[in-house]
Amino acid sequence: MEGQQAKISLLEQKPVRSALPEESVTYSIVAPVFNEEETLPHFYKRVIAVMESQAESFELLFVNDGSRDGSFRIMQELHRQDPRVHAINFSRNFGHQIAISAGLDYARGQVVIILDADLQDPPEVIPGLIERWKKGAEVVYAQRTKREGETLFKLLTAAAFYRLIERITSIDIPCDTGDFRLLDRRVVDVLILMREQHRFMRGLSVWAGFRQEAVLYERHERFAGSTKYPLSKMIRFSLDAITSFSHVPLQLATSSGLLLAGLSLIGIGIAVILRLFTGAIVGQASTLILVLFLGGIQLIFLGIIGEYLGRIYDEVRARPLYIIHDVLD
Ligand code: UDP
Ligand code: MG
Repeated sequence: MEGQQAKISLLEQKPVRSALPEESVTYSIVAPVFNEEETLPHFYKRVIAVMESQAESFELLFVNDGSRDGSFRIMQELHRQDPRVHAINFSRNFGHQIAISAGLDYARGQVVIILDADLQDPPEVIPGLIERWKKGAEVVYAQRTKREGETLFKLLTAAAFYRLIERITSIDIPCDTGDFRLLDRRVVDVLILMREQHRFMRGLSVWAGFRQEAVLYERHERFAGSTKYPLSKMIRFSLDAITSFSHVPLQLATSSGLLLAGLSLIGIGIAVILRLFTGAIVGQASTLILVLFLGGIQLIFLGIIGEYLGRIYDEVRARPLYIIHDVLD
């Protein structure tokens, strides 16, 4: 009964894709796009070449995440030439994770394959993912063995991020996986039901459970253009991931409070002994240092609470996840 209710509220939120009867396809390729005009024609060619080698039907669904270049014009052109190409055009930039979510909402495939449009996720890996699915896997994620063309800084921060996530969350997010993955319709239907605002899709697809398997691949350089994830976006993304799956940062306040309370007992003891035996009084400087230290710690924890509080506020407002300008159906 509860599942049914969730489905009904979802229908209210989900814009109707088409007045045509739903015809389903076997594979939906979902690609989020933000200013990728140089890459799109090549991306299209490579995806089509790979998918045509499969016997089953497929669609290529672009999600144009408020690109300011000619990306959408290229999608319109491809859509005119090839009826297997569809696109959702957002009213503005909503972010990579939301673009993927919209792709899942609109995909008609029995299987959905998510891959970046910058050709960093080579389409040639897709047949390997499909093979695992045919053998019964329901989530097949592509795991990087090597990353080409990334800065040392990106490699180090990514490594630190995955290790941290592994330590402080209760779900087991495999190291070095991105959003490049294959999802069975059953998993997609579960993900569609999760309407949270701050989405960490690769975490949600692990959280959903089902039979998960990995396929290894080498990640290439971007085909053209530069990353759409500057440091500020990466930090926000990491905070979304951590707050979505862990309460550890909140619990740190309790443990550091206990530690500091314990230390203060020792401090009091030392101050009393010094006063009794040497007559010395703990001076102004040490008091000032302690006040600043404790003030700093308290502000840090207020900030952490703020991160969670802001996200709760976003959830309570329950705005739609994205707004669609038009759909190329
Ligand atoms: N992207 C998006 N919206 C954004 C940022 C990125 O749809 O706000 C798309 C982008 O076009 C690309 C994919 O998401 O297809 C991954 O982005 P990017 O390659 O910049 O990330 P990186 O690979 O550097 O982590
Ligand atoms: Mg990329």
